[in-house]
Amino acid sequence: MIQNAPVKRLQYNDLTIEGYSRAAVQTYWRIPELKIGFDLGAQPWSFMGTATWFVSHGHLDHIAALPLYVARRRMMKMEPPTIYLPQSAVEPTRQILKLFTRIDRGRMPCHLVPIRGGDEIELSREHVVTVSPTQHRVPSFGFVVWHRRRKLKPEYAGLTSNQIRDIRLSGTDVSRELRTALLAYLGDSAPSGLDDCPAMYQAQILILEMTFVAPSHRKEKIHKFGHLHLDDVIARRDRFENQCIIASHFSTRYGARRIRELITRAIPDMLQGRLYLWL
Ligand SMILES: [Zn+2]
Ligand SMILES: [Zn+2]
Repeated sequence: MIQNAPVKRLQYNDLTIEGYSRAAVQTYWRIPELKIGFDLGAQPWSFMGTATWFVSHGHLDHIAALPLYVARRRMMKMEPPTIYLPQSAVEPTRQILKLFTRIDRGRMPCHLVPIRGGDEIELSREHVVTVSPTQHRVPSFGFVVWHRRRKLKPEYAGLTSNQIRDIRLSGTDVSRELRTALLAYLGDSAPSGLDDCPAMYQAQILILEMTFVAPSHRKEKIHKFGHLHLDDVIARRDRFENQCIIASHFSTRYGARRIRELITRAIPDMLQGRLYLWL
């Protein structure tokens, strides 16, 4: 396989999280088992086979590879992909694709689907994605992937299977939907993007941005730019119910060693071992 862009991997429960994310450089994530990806800041050759993508916002380090990805899939005779992106970015992206077609002389077949806060997108019978607004300098969204299953309503629990079948045949819904938040992706956001979406704190896996980690980078200023600081995570440490919390999207002002040092000094227990640094 051609290695054109760095990919880090982490296996957690039944999911593989693959990707790379540094602020202002490039961000892309993929969960092969769910057949989806988040953000298209660059496009590793190995990610091409994933046909469904969610773009959190229009900053170039999260969207620049969109035309390349669409063109590659056409070139490799794959089905046109479906790309969900903020409504405000859909029309400009269409125009960009059109202009690239003029330069490249290749078609750009894809489905661009606008998203809004509160949207629910069905991936399959088992999986649903919900969309929540985050706080950034351009319209931006976070995503939660849910596993759903039907469970018998408690009032029918004591009945035999024949009795349940009769009730079902009479047209009554005997089951209700149960949802488990499997994975949440915050994208770029000030803390309200987390606080306004409780499922972010509950998902089994949370992919978090932690653009700033140094004490000298002041929180107030960072919030104005729509990012998180290490201190924001510390202030919320009791709220994270997640089993696995991935910190990523670190600023290029810091080297890997400095990031590790600052975070392990500030959170010696690494949130009871649940915090992974995407470095
Ligand atoms: Zn970013
Ligand atoms: Zn951004």
